[in-house]
Amino acid sequence: MTEVMKQYMAVKERYPDAIVFFRMGDFYEMFYDDAVTAARELEIALTSRNKKDKDSAPMCGVPYHSVDGYIAKMIAKGYKIAICEQLEDPKTVKGLVKRDVVRLITPGTVTDTQTLNEKENNFLVSIVFEDGNYGISICDITTGELLVTEIPGSDTQGLINELARYKPSEVILTDAVFNNKALVGEIEYRFSSMINRAKEEPVWANSKGLILSRLGEKSLSLLGVSEDAHVVNALGVMFTYLDLTQKMVLPHIREINYYCVKEYLEMDVFTGKNLELIETLRHSNRTGSLLWVLDKTKTSMGGRMLRSFIEKPLVNCSSILKRLYAVDELIKNSSLREEIAEKLKEINDMERLLAKVTCKTVNCRELLALLSSFDPLPELELMLSKLKSPLFEDLNAEFDTLGDIYELLSNSLTDSEDVPTTIKDGEIIKDGYDAEIDELRKLKKDSGAILDEIELREKELTGIKNLRIAYNRVFGYFIEVSNSNKDMVPAHYIRKQTLTTGERFITEELKVLEDKILGASEKLKAREYELFCNIREQVAVEVARIQKTAAIIALTDVLCSFAEVSEKNNYTMPYVDMSDKIDIKDGRHPVVEKVLKDELFVPNDTLLNSESDRFLIITGPNMAGKSTYMRQVAVITLMAQIGCFVPASSCHIGIVDKIFTRVGASDDLSSGQSTFMVEMTEVSNILKNATSKSLLVLDEIGRGTSTYDGLAIAWSVCEYIADKKKIGARTLFATHYHELTELEEKLEGIKNYCIACKKRGDSITFLRRIIKGGADESYGIEVAALAGIPKKVVTRAKEILAGLTDGDFKSESKPKFTEEDSMQISLTDSVGEEIANILRDLDITTLTPIETLNKLYELQKMAK
Ligand code: ATP
Repeated sequence: MTEVMKQYMAVKERYPDAIVFFRMGDFYEMFYDDAVTAARELEIALTSRNKKDKDSAPMCGVPYHSVDGYIAKMIAKGYKIAICEQLEDPKTVKGLVKRDVVRLITPGTVTDTQTLNEKENNFLVSIVFEDGNYGISICDITTGELLVTEIPGSDTQGLINELARYKPSEVILTDAVFNNKALVGEIEYRFSSMINRAKEEPVWANSKGLILSRLGEKSLSLLGVSEDAHVVNALGVMFTYLDLTQKMVLPHIREINYYCVKEYLEMDVFTGKNLELIETLRHSNRTGSLLWVLDKTKTSMGGRMLRSFIEKPLVNCSSILKRLYAVDELIKNSSLREEIAEKLKEINDMERLLAKVTCKTVNCRELLALLSSFDPLPELELMLSKLKSPLFEDLNAEFDTLGDIYELLSNSLTDSEDVPTTIKDGEIIKDGYDAEIDELRKLKKDSGAILDEIELREKELTGIKNLRIAYNRVFGYFIEVSNSNKDMVPAHYIRKQTLTTGERFITEELKVLEDKILGASEKLKAREYELFCNIREQVAVEVARIQKTAAIIALTDVLCSFAEVSEKNNYTMPYVDMSDKIDIKDGRHPVVEKVLKDELFVPNDTLLNSESDRFLIITGPNMAGKSTYMRQVAVITLMAQIGCFVPASSCHIGIVDKIFTRVGASDDLSSGQSTFMVEMTEVSNILKNATSKSLLVLDEIGRGTSTYDGLAIAWSVCEYIADKKKIGARTLFATHYHELTELEEKLEGIKNYCIACKKRGDSITFLRRIIKGGADESYGIEVAALAGIPKKVVTRAKEILAGLTDGDFKSESKPKFTEEDSMQISLTDSVGEEIANILRDLDITTLTPIETLNKLYELQKMAK
């Protein structure tokens, strides 16, 4: 094995679970199994090193300048990449060049902004389990956010619910968590996270030391973390992993945001999905979600913050009101808001650019992008100063226009249109910023004129008319003389090269000038790089100030977005307090009203409280709008608690602590449980965790089993939730078990509602209006007909229903489908019947010839 392969093997041994990108000259090479995997995944050619050798190594490679795209592809496919660089310049070293891994790139530690969604955070999460509690730490290294919290009492469902707010791309688990296979499976299944086992178990004292050293503080309490918190070890695990992957301290991770799960509205993992907050249930699309309706943010930072607001609604009344008053002020000052929005459009992703500055990976173009983001700040400050609501008062007091950093960058960095992406090749510092650079640039520029002068002088002195001075990389500057003039060359010319057409010479004078010119070029590049690093450092030390301004911009952006959406969609300011009320007048579903094409959305009222109206039983035909109605109440409540106006004519929300939903068929079949089992597990979770302050949305509980079992379960679930001594939560309960409407008479707090519809003959019209009382029928058969169920089946269903409702449903009258029957219910047959019906109903006396022809054409098409 060659020396370099031995070096490779030593590196690979240290990173067995990563694909090693091994830098060799202008390529990153991969070997052995890594090469086979990478060639397959990247669709590049697999070759081999030392082909003749019987142990030749499979190998593939990618050019260094386009490596980012290849890395992104591998990361997206769930691999880790170890970047092994040459640590010395091969030109200056004899023999083997030193190489080592400079970064380990994993899904949770990607910093390449092109790979990441700009309006989404990329979270890395560490989890420990100690004394029956989970400690979790959540970090986005591209922005520097670091959050920690605890889930008490070994509540794995609570842990999953919390993780659902972040959807981590990667998790690091200590053994106690890693060994819980069910939990690990659930994390993998729900969030597709890469799972890592912590290299070693954390030791409290070491964790504490690591936290203090990384964040530069003297005590945990100064960082807002108590000494006995389980998050200490979670942070320890996080920082150890960051050290392993980044190989450097990340100065933009500056503070710890410790929060208690109860500070935010709790939602179980299904609720966010069922309410389609971030993406749709069916196709996981952003279009069709609440985020899609609410997001009119102009900056990436605002986009990310809006998403986190939706994932973490508030429960603190004054914080909610502060946001609402700010939104109200922006609606009332709409032209000012539009001006602010225009300014926001000029601002780039300051958070992610700043992270690059502190990690020293920023280039000049990116620093200029940061500079141009500072440009609109003074005007923005002026605009915001006109806003006086309490939240804007707070923001204005903190607003820093970063004038000094703006000055520094605008005075020092080039304003050329064509800025190089490299920082070591010069052309990045502005003229006039540094005397040495100016002098060197002058020398470089003047050298052309000096050479011209020398050429002219030598022509005159020697009398050689076609003498010329030129340059090549091997000989530097030289004087070229053609063969015919060879004899006229003076004695002090030193011959360097003979060509077929002539000779090349150098002179002492030329040599001295050459050293000066080439030296100037190198010196210039070095000096520009030195200054760039210095400027970068000066920006990096201001990380706290820049982050603060970035956060103010993000929040302003979110509030403007809320205001814009609220104004455009005619939303209203909710009245929010700690009461037990939910009183909505003319409420609408914000997404359904947007996607309805041919119909207008029909608004509906809702009244819920903890006394007379705490449990609403909603009946009505299929397709009437029960689910939409119930979701609309939950979504309006959530919108109010994130501080946004709501789609209603008036709205009073008594803050809820948790929202639970049990809606429709679950997608959890891959978890190895039956539909009914999943449904019951979810219900059980709700019954265990709901409180009197919660809001429950339950759609057709019990439908997944036999009618009587289902009814019995639904009945007792109603009793349990409605009982103030047990739960007493505000609840919307949709059902097709009309028997449940009897509960209104039997239990206090239960109210019957139904969604009105009109039946005319065999057809039904949905009125979409919610009215008091129970529905008489489900009209399931009519809806089945609407859905295109063959007519024979529909007719038979009607016969059976009649039998059932007459109460003579004895075994002998039970529907029997003979073989002949089922043959008849074939599609062709039902078409035949349809054609016969059309023919039968045709009034030939009134048809014009052209209508007749059209009808005939239609019938033939059906027959075909
Ligand atoms: P099922 O019992 O079959 O589940 P459902 O009663 O829950 O039906 P939804 O799914 O809520 O019915 O609504 C069916 C469709 O009716 C929706 O997709 C929507 O297009 C429309 N719809 C619902 N509510 C309204 C409304 N208030 N105004 C206008 N259209 C509505």
